[in-house]
Amino acid sequence: MTATSLVVLENVNKHFGDLHVLRDINITVDRGEVVVVIGPSGSGKSTLCRTINRLETIDSGLITIDGVPLPEEGRGLARLRSDVGMVFQSFNLFAHKTVLQNVTLGPVKVRRQNRAEAEKRAWELLDRVGIADQAGKYPAQLSGGQQQRVAIARALAMDPKVLMFDEPTSALDPEMVQEVLDVMTALAKEGMTMVVVTHEMGFARRAANRVVFMADGQIVEENTPDEFFTAPRTERAQDFLSKIL
Ligand code: ADP
Ligand code: MG
Repeated sequence: MTATSLVVLENVNKHFGDLHVLRDINITVDRGEVVVVIGPSGSGKSTLCRTINRLETIDSGLITIDGVPLPEEGRGLARLRSDVGMVFQSFNLFAHKTVLQNVTLGPVKVRRQNRAEAEKRAWELLDRVGIADQAGKYPAQLSGGQQQRVAIARALAMDPKVLMFDEPTSALDPEMVQEVLDVMTALAKEGMTMVVVTHEMGFARRAANRVVFMADGQIVEENTPDEFFTAPRTERAQDFLSKIL
């Protein structure tokens, strides 16, 4: 670990009953880095994301965010959830709140920002994800791509140190995938630290600094996108790529 390390996992293990879902995971994500995590379904990618946000506990090992070990509970957890933003496959917006309210809720309730300040920032963020004109609508009135862009704005409103994306485009109709990837690519270019679980290989090639390939709860290969896609080192990765490319 160095001063530039933002997210560090050391020998992380996690079981669900008899299932050893994360096996001795070691990952370091540096500030400003974009790490794409890929791998077959059931390999532990979502669980990995959830442990970093402490939506799941771990059995052994250590996770630190910006040098601070994950808190067990209490106030530290709220702080952590501000530091580690999360964008899910299923958007998870508040259905009975408007787009603007979805983006201001966290800053006002958790970060105790005053409402005017939170709204000013929300407008900026909605503009940044190209959706300010929808601010008064409810999630159900938006397309999936628009909802996911709101979810990204909502995560950004908490000023996270790192943004985690768990298959953010998997639930979208094909024509809406690109608008979300475009927002993510722009964030990556602006230097946002990101961990992205995705099957979008075009995004991985364009935006990732590093690809982490997982299978059966293990990191099987860590590589540059260039090498990973043209000359994967492991048979497991070669096999996976031959099925999806
Ligand atoms: P991925 O995101 O790579 O598809 P997951 O992390 O969702 O993989 O799941 C890894 C394994 O853990 C799968 O076998 C899944 O069925 C299992 N699993 C995930 N969540 C739970 C849970 N809450 N309880 C029991 N098993 C789980
Ligand atoms: Mg998953």
